[in-house]
Amino acid sequence: MQTNLADFIRGTPDGDTADAILRKCVHCGFCTATCPTYQLLGDELDGPRGRIYLIKQFLEGAAVTEKTQRHLDRCLTCRSCETTCPSGVEYHRLVDIGRAVVAERVARPAGTRFLRFALREFLPRGWLFGPAYKLGQFFRPLLPPSLKAKVLPRQKSVATTRRNHPRKMLMLAGCVQPAMSPNINAATARVLDRLGIATIEAEGAGCCGAVRLHLDDHEGARDDARRNIDAWWPHIERGAEAVIVTASGCGAHVREYAHLLGHDRAYAAKAARVTLIARDIGEVIAAERTGLAALLEKSVPMERRKIAFHSPCTLQHGLKVRGAVEEILQAAGFELTPVADGHLCCGSAGTYSVLQPELSLRLRDNKLACLSAGAPAAIASANIGCIAHLGESAAVPVRHWIELLDEAM
Ligand code: SF4
Ligand code: SF4
Repeated sequence: MQTNLADFIRGTPDGDTADAILRKCVHCGFCTATCPTYQLLGDELDGPRGRIYLIKQFLEGAAVTEKTQRHLDRCLTCRSCETTCPSGVEYHRLVDIGRAVVAERVARPAGTRFLRFALREFLPRGWLFGPAYKLGQFFRPLLPPSLKAKVLPRQKSVATTRRNHPRKMLMLAGCVQPAMSPNINAATARVLDRLGIATIEAEGAGCCGAVRLHLDDHEGARDDARRNIDAWWPHIERGAEAVIVTASGCGAHVREYAHLLGHDRAYAAKAARVTLIARDIGEVIAAERTGLAALLEKSVPMERRKIAFHSPCTLQHGLKVRGAVEEILQAAGFELTPVADGHLCCGSAGTYSVLQPELSLRLRDNKLACLSAGAPAAIASANIGCIAHLGESAAVPVRHWIELLDEAM
């Protein structure tokens, strides 16, 4: 589509990115059919094509209103529209730019501002979130049901032997996952250890930056990326093969480091390298198929268990990893139940479940109905946000798939 960006953004890095994306969109509307919020609300402006049009209008100088903000806020950034789009429109980058412009021009009510500030400053700080979460787990039996559902029961910690191997990979600890589900990275380390790969959680690395980016703090998100790159770089120089991420939401964001820091002279080359070697754990295990098959052959066969796999949006639409985890689980002896509408978001979407609770709960109910249809004994997923969100009201346990693979081995 033709564009004529306004002076305030024309020629800036964001302006150039937005312009290139807008020009790719041919306004065909194919994406609308696979957008979860359009399906729920039936309003063109709550679908990708409508949102793209809104963004185009204000980047070309039209006024930004609360209505504009509302339609952009309702977007999950699930990127289902990108999977459907035949023209390769990178919608998530455009909506990030659009949201930053709207944030500067439309003031939110004080309560919402405080909530967004609290989420932005609290969640990414593991040293703050971890102890607070542990306190919540301790008092869990006394919490009101709504809050209790948000706090996962304390996980039994299983000892992890970390042997040294010539092959090494960095592993992102992240911000909330170590407190909510420490066994995910522990299980990853055990599985990779059996495959002859040592994992390193670099000191100083922390939140990937996605929380800050999605709450309009773009510079804060870049700082998070720079800090992680600084922590990882000495290990990368010493030969670490990959940066493994076990939460697909964080993995999709780490893949964006090259784009985020593309104009930062000091970090652009390093960020490009990190993007190149960033891997979801599903991609890492899929590449070790032969070693995995040999290990599974030696393991004690377990009772065949029916599970439903929920592929997070960040895994299938963000990282474009489709079918790999399902194949690994089947190879490990799990029976996967069919799941209808697998392309649709569960409603977790980072902080969306807190900021848009009504839509989020509708999406979760729909998702759980689809996941439960085959009567699985458990639900597996690949992102801590989805696991916690679905686990709040699922009738069966919701686990990270790597924990199931670890147990099967
Ligand atoms: S499918 Fe792609 S090209 Fe078509 S309207 Fe949607 S974003 Fe634009
Ligand atoms: S990212 Fe998801 S919710 Fe947002 S417009 Fe695209 S499909 Fe719809």
